[in-house]
Amino acid sequence: MSLEDEARRLDETDPLPTLRGEFLVPPAPGGRYGEAAYFAGNSLGLQPRSVAGRLREELDDWARLAVEAHTQGRRPWVDYHELLREPAARLVGARPHEVVAMNSLTVNLHLMMASFYRPAGTRTRILIEDAAFPSDAYAVASQAVHHGLDPAETVVRLRPRDGEHHLRTEDVLGRLEREGDTVALVMLGGVNYLTGQLMDMPAITKAGRAAGAVVGWDLAHAAGNVPLRLHDWDADFAAWCTYKYLNGGPGAVAGCFVHERHVRDASVPKLSGWWGTDPSVRFRMDPEIAPPASADAWQLSNPPIMALAPVLASLEIFDRVGMDALRAKSERLTGYLASRLAGTGAGIITPADPAARGTQLSLRVADAGGLVRRLAATSGVIADAREPDIVRLAPVPLYCTFHDCHRAAAAIGDLV
Ligand SMILES: *Cc1c(COP(=O)(O)O)cnc(C)c1O
Repeated sequence: MSLEDEARRLDETDPLPTLRGEFLVPPAPGGRYGEAAYFAGNSLGLQPRSVAGRLREELDDWARLAVEAHTQGRRPWVDYHELLREPAARLVGARPHEVVAMNSLTVNLHLMMASFYRPAGTRTRILIEDAAFPSDAYAVASQAVHHGLDPAETVVRLRPRDGEHHLRTEDVLGRLEREGDTVALVMLGGVNYLTGQLMDMPAITKAGRAAGAVVGWDLAHAAGNVPLRLHDWDADFAAWCTYKYLNGGPGAVAGCFVHERHVRDASVPKLSGWWGTDPSVRFRMDPEIAPPASADAWQLSNPPIMALAPVLASLEIFDRVGMDALRAKSERLTGYLASRLAGTGAGIITPADPAARGTQLSLRVADAGGLVRRLAATSGVIADAREPDIVRLAPVPLYCTFHDCHRAAAAIGDLV
């Protein structure tokens, strides 16, 4: 059997048949297959076919009902964000009152830090990973400045050991044990955007909290990628965007988690707006806020319905399939792609252990941008370059197939 036939057979026999047909896959003109093999879903997920209809309904309610759609629409806008609560809670392993869909990711990180980064005395430092996404690095540095602190001393960047690509859990835990009393906040990516490393979130959360620090997770690359148990892990807060693995569309509304122990604590300081007051009294327009005992207390503004509608449509797919089934398929696809890439000359810097990675393989190559352009032009394989030398491939289990992995590996084998 040829490698291509074998890939097709894997698609036909997989316990979770692809849901590719529910997504709009970009065309790849000139290639052999007509459609792209899309591996950039960790950057921008594909559009579910159900999104357009959902948006159409909201546009239609706006046209027919205008202001009345707040209460009379088919999904009344005043509590539209409620529709996302349960699916989002299931997605991240939270209780429903611990999650809210609002804002964008970096905004939510700031709102969370406004509440939970409370430097005091010698406990001022913020731990991030050296390979943190720039927005996170900028956000924590600006929080330090905001508190009158020097970011160079306040922000600690965790580096892998010399010659290694990943943080070792034992090193993170050791650091927390030794220096934990100087750490106010641990804020790492659950899955690193660059290397694809899946952090040991339960162990790090436990160690951070035992050291007396607050532990928050950036789940940009983890939500919709790996199963999460935020409540049980006892994380203090988390935030994630919904346009990567969650297919919510460019700049879609983000998610936010605040642990139950904080939502019940009215003394936690927060930045407030009218959507953070109890909905039963919101329209009394009282000057005093009455925050509910839920993550909704962190909401500021009335939600952007047109930006929430795609997220709702997308979460319905996750709810239907379930993260455990998606994770299992992701491990099969990622493992297959890794085995096919072995020997192409493209060095994989993502952990080889499936338990220490999500749906992503990062390759170190000589000219990342050039390779990504050639992959698209010659084979309709869409990947993502982080200049100068990293190419990221995400075989997203909802819509990528073993055959797509075959296409990518064959093309990379030819080009590298
Ligand atoms: C994608 C990503 C972001 C992007 O932030 P936005 O506020 O959504 O623009 C931030 N942090 C990480 C770790 C990311 O992967």
